[in-house]
Amino acid sequence: MKTLTIDNFKIMLNNALRHIKEREEEFSKLDAVIGDGDHGQAIVTAMSAIVATAQKGTEFKAMLNDMGFDVMLQVSGSTSTLLGAFFLGMSDTVSGTELDAVAVKAMFAGGLANVQKQTKAGKGDKTMMDALIPAVEAIENSDSADIKEILEAGAKAALDGTAATVDMKANFGRARNYGERSIGYADSGASSWSCMFAAFAEAL
Ligand SMILES: [Mg+2]
Repeated sequence: MKTLTIDNFKIMLNNALRHIKEREEEFSKLDAVIGDGDHGQAIVTAMSAIVATAQKGTEFKAMLNDMGFDVMLQVSGSTSTLLGAFFLGMSDTVSGTELDAVAVKAMFAGGLANVQKQTKAGKGDKTMMDALIPAVEAIENSDSADIKEILEAGAKAALDGTAATVDMKANFGRARNYGERSIGYADSGASSWSCMFAAFAEAL
């Protein structure tokens, strides 16, 4: 597909919410290894708020901006802050009601840039950034002009990045205190973010 419409994007978001809901318990169990075990509920609540706001959208910039602000205002916690920052950052580069491949790449790059203002975590720290950074790099580096293929490259990179967190030691935030105990389990945030990217690609 050569252009992404508002309706395509809403279908992507709805598919992400559906898949995230299906795996809510798994995300919480992974979070319980090195945290408080609330990530499943946190990501479902945040994504539900995002999807509810998106339904009212009629053009990309305002829709993404409203999605980001609403989730940050309505849902507390780091999951909401990071997802909100992602969609707010995506709103920075877009305009209109249809995006071509170049605009889609710029939109995801804008999302990552804004998340990087919220967290100093990088690749290898065993956080959601181990899914998000490779996903956006793969999207930007894809030489396809087909938006589904571009998002499939992002999804694969996010899933590979998440798989790599299994062997990592938590290196960021409170999870750092669990040290060796975190090895052997995927990071909960990387798991939910890669689930989102996989659902985005699948929906198209
Ligand atoms: Mg937690």
